Amino acid sequence: MEIKVESFELDHTKVEAPYVREAGKIETPKGDVIQKYDLRLLQPNEGVVPTGAMHTLEHLLAGYLRERINNIVDISPMGCRTGFYLIVVGSPDVAEVKTALIDSLRKVIKTDEVPATTAKECGNYRDHSLFGAKEYAQEVLNGFKE
Ligand SMILES: [Zn+2]
Repeated sequence: MEIKVESFELDHTKVEAPYVREAGKIETPKGDVIQKYDLRLLQPNEGVVPTGAMHTLEHLLAGYLRERINNIVDISPMGCRTGFYLIVVGSPDVAEVKTALIDSLRKVIKTDEVPATTAKECGNYRDHSLFGAKEYAQEVLNGFKE
């Protein structure tokens, strides 16, 4: 059996970031829907978020997106560092997710603190950059306005 990975099928040269896209859906045997979204912040193979900024965005979005979207399973950085994957039980509209992302990035710009940045709470607490997170959040917001 050939295994297909949705994100490997995507032509990354054809997308235009920033964007929010549905990136797969699973229906459980009991009929619940689990939906995955591609929250693309930067243009693939052109921009990249540095690890410290990406890590800080991860910590901040973990809280901010959960304030806006119910039943979030996970929000994880992509290995290529051009965006995040969001996994939700249920299937909120792409427009709803996009608005939640934009509002969350606006909050990033206004925050003075990063949650869970001790050795007890984080796997690499030394590698954070709130300055970088704010700079990239602003760049993404500018991209959404265009
Ligand atoms: Zn961490």
